[in-house]
Amino acid sequence: MTSGNDMQSLAVTGVQALSPYQPGKPVDELARELGLDPKSIVKLASNENPLGPADSALAAARDALTELTRYPDGNGYYLKQSLCKRYGVKPDQITLGNGSNDVLEVITRCFVAPGDDVVYSQYAFAVYPLVTQAIGARGVSVPAVDYGHDLDAMASAVTDRTKLVFVANPNNPTGTFHGKAAIEAFLDRIPSNVLVVLDEAYCEYMEGDVTSDLPDGLDLLPRYPNLIVTRTFSKAWGLAALRVGYSICSPEITNILNRVRQPFNVDSVAMAAATAVLGDEEYLRKSCEINARGMKQLESAFAELGLDYIPSAGNFISVDVGPNASGINQSLLEQGVIVRPVGGYGMPNHLRVSIGLPDENARFIDALKVALGRAEA
Ligand SMILES: *Cc1c(COP(=O)(O)O)cnc(C)c1O
Repeated sequence: MTSGNDMQSLAVTGVQALSPYQPGKPVDELARELGLDPKSIVKLASNENPLGPADSALAAARDALTELTRYPDGNGYYLKQSLCKRYGVKPDQITLGNGSNDVLEVITRCFVAPGDDVVYSQYAFAVYPLVTQAIGARGVSVPAVDYGHDLDAMASAVTDRTKLVFVANPNNPTGTFHGKAAIEAFLDRIPSNVLVVLDEAYCEYMEGDVTSDLPDGLDLLPRYPNLIVTRTFSKAWGLAALRVGYSICSPEITNILNRVRQPFNVDSVAMAAATAVLGDEEYLRKSCEINARGMKQLESAFAELGLDYIPSAGNFISVDVGPNASGINQSLLEQGVIVRPVGGYGMPNHLRVSIGLPDENARFIDALKVALGRAEA
């Protein structure tokens, strides 16, 4: 008989040191705990699209159900064709993933060996340290400046041991981002034998009024053969449940990624829905519009309450509620509002709030006032 502890020692070294990714609390779980109707709960915890899925995506998904006995198209022909048309790239530059997290993991497994260095920022997306440690590589976390990536310091942290650098633009959970000039200056400093993953999970939201210096990783690909851009259908495209993401990079890197990727890693219903929504400009426009509105709604509420927040280019915002953040989070939960504590990111005083529909944002703001003891009688 092998005891639990012995099992622990059987795991590879990197995995022994890992703690599991903490997802946002599911609505049904909180509903069960509190004995509440799930419909009365507001979840603003996982940066999901509050609009619900696009009709175009739903119709395509339903049509695809008739083929459930068949394996999906392992090459993702139609989805890749749509991505090519929209973004002006070639199919041999695209790697599809079961969510972009899948692609981030495949990239790391292809290019990073135990003992190599992977560079990322303090407060960066949790999946970067996770995939790095799982393979026994060394994560180099570079101190942030004002919660954002310090790209200069990150470039300086690259050594002979570095195989990969992760840059999230905008970053989650901070919402911080860099413009095109800063990203270019950074890429100019990275040796061509070090890969850079530019994670643009929230790029669709930036097409608004965030900056005139909009970064677009795809524009940079021709000049930087070591660049890999990753994107997802989970956020602005509203398909988080279906798990579709992708990378775009050189055909040479793509060829390597496709050797390690599981052949049927994206299912046919998911691909059909993603292909359909990619042509749905109206859905994307609405998603961005509702996000911009909700962002203003939360920013002005925080300002009114005298709370500091980190200006965000994503579909979420992190707000400093002080040292009692976990008590405030508990009060929000008891009022049926789920947000995301980010103590695990080293931000114990912040809560990350995803932008919801106007009435969901209002529910959160009211609950926050109660939690802070500032509700008007
Ligand atoms: C949400 C998110 C992703 C996307 O994850 P999926 O696996 O595509 O759902 C990737 N990177 C960042 C920074 C994110 O916040």
